[in-house]
Amino acid sequence: MALQTLAICFLIPPLIYIYTMSVISTRFPMLRNKKICLLIAHPDDEAMFFSPTLLALTEPSTGNHVKILCLSSGDAEGLGETRKRELVKSGMKLGLRREEDIYVHEDKSKFPDSMTTPWSGSDVSALLDSAFAPSSASRSSDSPPAVNIDVLVSFDPTGVSGHINHRSLYHGACQWLSSLQRTGHSSPVALYTLGSVNIVRKYSMFFDIVATLVEFGFQCGWSREVNRVNTSKNKGSSVRGEAVSGRREFPERLVLASGLGPGGWGKAWKAMTEAHKSQMLWFRYGWIILSRYMVVNDLALVSPSRAARAGPVCGGGRKEAVFELTTKVVEGEKDQ
Ligand SMILES: [Zn+2]
Repeated sequence: MALQTLAICFLIPPLIYIYTMSVISTRFPMLRNKKICLLIAHPDDEAMFFSPTLLALTEPSTGNHVKILCLSSGDAEGLGETRKRELVKSGMKLGLRREEDIYVHEDKSKFPDSMTTPWSGSDVSALLDSAFAPSSASRSSDSPPAVNIDVLVSFDPTGVSGHINHRSLYHGACQWLSSLQRTGHSSPVALYTLGSVNIVRKYSMFFDIVATLVEFGFQCGWSREVNRVNTSKNKGSSVRGEAVSGRREFPERLVLASGLGPGGWGKAWKAMTEAHKSQMLWFRYGWIILSRYMVVNDLALVSPSRAARAGPVCGGGRKEAVFELTTKVVEGEKDQ
């Protein structure tokens, strides 16, 4: 009898999670038919923190086209070249369409892999500008600049782990978003950030779906946000679920949850253990097993006004054809 009770106790939570996940995947807001870039600081950020996001947004039925832009090779221990290859391998396991959609920009003077040196928000913003809004000549007009992505996804101000490079991305992304603003126009790009949670939630595996949904309900309102699901029109720039362009609206929050089988958490596991082999020290297994970020992500839309408060763009910075440069990163370095 005790054994049966124990078995039930072990089985019920995963079953509830799987049911909840199915509800989320069918009823909750989702980005569709968007050009999306995940902005990360180091190879392995995409797997350790953003696996549920990538698995959900790259699902073919969404029609999204997802890319990854990584601003360092994570070369602090001299493993930069290895880690670049690992990032490509991981990205492919997590659903990206092709290796060319994964870029590593390496500029150790501006973006060193460091626990103590912050990256300039202006430099990050300038880099994003050169990659995604290359026709900067239009900046003098009143019309919004042409951009080649719809959505940018990155870390929030805390950076999940508190890493200074993660936090720098948030400030740089906000500066870039602010630079795209025009009088009478909202930003043509939506910025979503990954929520940082406390240490208890961070290591509560899939159980964190409860806290995530409670938070979602309190912050968004269940019926309003769930029923809206990408269909309502722009209601103005000051409301919640703020529109980021005159063409469409983006959900205020996204909850992205992976399954516990080989198609969900199993893919995230392989992205770490089979792709990021150089990073697989013993404690990484603890992260893979216990971290909620391996199965649950919640993304918050950053409003233009909040982005503006994160700091103005200071100077133009150096323009680089970053995508052209970075596509050469993996040249001749196919995985074995
Ligand atoms: Zn990192």
